[in-house]
Amino acid sequence: MNPDEMLEWLGEKDPKKLQGLFKAARACAVAHVGPKVYFRGLIEFSNVCAKNCCYCGIRSGNARVLRYSMPAGEILDCAREAFEMGYGSVVLQAGERQGEDYCRLIEDIIPGIKALSGGKLGITLSLGEQSFATYERWFRAGAHRYLLRIETSNPGLYRSLHPEDHFFEARRNCLRSLKKAGYQTGTGVMIGLPGQTNEDLVNDILFFEREDIDMIGMGPYIPHEETPLAASGQKGNDLTDNLRLGLVMIALTRLRLKDVNITAATALQALDPAGYEQGICAGANIIMPNITPVKYREQYQLYRGKPCLDEDALKCSGCLDRRIRSTGAEIGYREWGDSRHFASRSKVPARPV
Ligand code: SAH
Ligand code: SF4
Repeated sequence: MNPDEMLEWLGEKDPKKLQGLFKAARACAVAHVGPKVYFRGLIEFSNVCAKNCCYCGIRSGNARVLRYSMPAGEILDCAREAFEMGYGSVVLQAGERQGEDYCRLIEDIIPGIKALSGGKLGITLSLGEQSFATYERWFRAGAHRYLLRIETSNPGLYRSLHPEDHFFEARRNCLRSLKKAGYQTGTGVMIGLPGQTNEDLVNDILFFEREDIDMIGMGPYIPHEETPLAASGQKGNDLTDNLRLGLVMIALTRLRLKDVNITAATALQALDPAGYEQGICAGANIIMPNITPVKYREQYQLYRGKPCLDEDALKCSGCLDRRIRSTGAEIGYREWGDSRHFASRSKVPARPV
């Protein structure tokens, strides 16, 4: 899969041809990362954010959002629920915050999650840009994966989507720090952003390759009307086209990078009731079911139309089990399903899958 072929596929609209691409990508996933799909329970534990990204519904400038931070006990209860449902890992995600108190809060929660699961729950963090020292402290506390989307690999486009004090280079350097600190490192982009071209998307995949990334999470951009990007009237692709592009990007990334973990993003599900299944059939192997308590979900809308705003974790779990099995994939309950790419780049033997 070379860049010219990728570009051609991004322009392909014939459903029959696309089915062929998706089939090849799913076969590639089975060959390189195995037949299983792994669940990581997503805990959106705080919407307090110091940043002001122009596309995001919980940006600091949005005064309509009621800010919350879940107490540590509630975060641990969520993790316990994930463990009891057989999920192998949890993802702790929040707006971005810095400072010693915050750093220590996370440093204390991580071993708490380890303790309640007898060390069995894997822990992924998605807490934005931090110093190398903070990344190291959280790694030492027991987190072993980190998600930090680059959002777009085009620095000019990045600039147009962020306030002046948000820097592409700083974010990219964070990815490098995360790898140096020892994390399985994940990144990704939004797809269908205003001003984004198919060439940009090809370059995004080449960026993942160049930065030797272990895990990819990409999803369609979905406008949120209380943001400057949506208000500017600048249009991204239409949303059905974003779904197609989202699936094609998963397939191309799988065929190019082969042994990375790829998430079927929640934003795919927001655009189509069978978004997760389609993501798996296009080569993804990770799902992040939302296990945030229902009472907070309304206030964690990065974009509009997030699915399952009122479905509790247990209900989601039964429904997802059926849906993922319907694709023919197995589910790796109680397994970490670590990135095989990480294992080969760091020469650490992969955990049993
Ligand atoms: N604050 C952390 C984690 C939470 S935001 C961070 O920024 O890394 C997680 C992701 O949500 C972002 O990386 C972005 O890619 C995505 N996101 C934000 N607004 C979005 C929108 N309008 N449409 C689709 N995805 C969005
Ligand atoms: Fe904050 Fe992340 Fe949203 Fe940016 S994308 S405003 S860092 S929550």
